[in-house]
Amino acid sequence: MRPVRHALLAVAGLLFSAALWAQTVTPAFDLQGHRGARGLAPENTLPSFQKALDLGVDTLECDLAITRDGVVVVYHDQWLNPDITRGPDGQWLQGRGPAIHELTYAELQRYDVGRIKPGTEYAKTFPHQQAIDGTRIPRLSDLFDLVRRSGNTRAGFDCETKISPLEPSASLPPEEFARRVIAEVRQAGMATRTMIQSFDWRTLQVVQKQAPEIRTMYLSSPRTLARAADGGPSPWLAGFDPDRHGGTVPQSVRAAGGSIWAPNQTYLTPALRNEARALGIRVIPWTVNDPAMVNKLLDMQVDGIISDRPDLVQIELRKRAVKP
Ligand code: MG
Repeated sequence: MRPVRHALLAVAGLLFSAALWAQTVTPAFDLQGHRGARGLAPENTLPSFQKALDLGVDTLECDLAITRDGVVVVYHDQWLNPDITRGPDGQWLQGRGPAIHELTYAELQRYDVGRIKPGTEYAKTFPHQQAIDGTRIPRLSDLFDLVRRSGNTRAGFDCETKISPLEPSASLPPEEFARRVIAEVRQAGMATRTMIQSFDWRTLQVVQKQAPEIRTMYLSSPRTLARAADGGPSPWLAGFDPDRHGGTVPQSVRAAGGSIWAPNQTYLTPALRNEARALGIRVIPWTVNDPAMVNKLLDMQVDGIISDRPDLVQIELRKRAVKP
């Protein structure tokens, strides 16, 4: 019996190793719900993240700002957006609202972000979004609590530092911004489930140095890749502009120490995708809501997709049996 038992143990060990190897070598496709599930519920709110969780996304994508009193909150814009925000009087903001950086968390709680302003381009873009009047801007800690309470131990977080080198007075500087986010993620015990992303690669450099247990994701768009107005290097890329690092964005991401690149959906080509793969960089484009584009990107074997309509992406994934 003993040799049989040894053989069984050996086989079990091999299977376990193979499973670990598979997990390490070919990480699963990463379906990310953009601002929760923005196409279906008010962006960056707890109901939107709940919707994405209910759909079974792999990762909850969210945007971060920091209030005057140092609270990390989930909101896309540095100033309150009149297309989605009503003031304490219940009226839509007239034009750009105050900067989150200048409001306390308590002041911020007086604004309602549960409905898109009717008649706007934004409203036309998301006709299936279900309004939930009275919804408030959540803290990052509220998002972590929501997921913890749901019992979901699998979903990850992709948290974007909303900071601009062109608007230095609109937020904390990159080092301090990144430090506050790192502290929040660590306090929640979510470091290994979280990646921090940014167009402003300065914050990602801080994360890599100070919190190597948290992954980083390098965002790019034609706007952030363009040279500065004075012809100098782009201020978004922390000195890792492609002109100085091999000529392509994947080369720049590699030079910056990154391993995940998030290009906008129309920028990616099969050649760039292949170059990224050769450099060991995962590619997760944004923000993909059109099934034809989903399929074009799946044909390129991207490593994930960020979408306002993760339910529509799931339909295409199921057709290909990428996900059961
Ligand atoms: Mg974002």
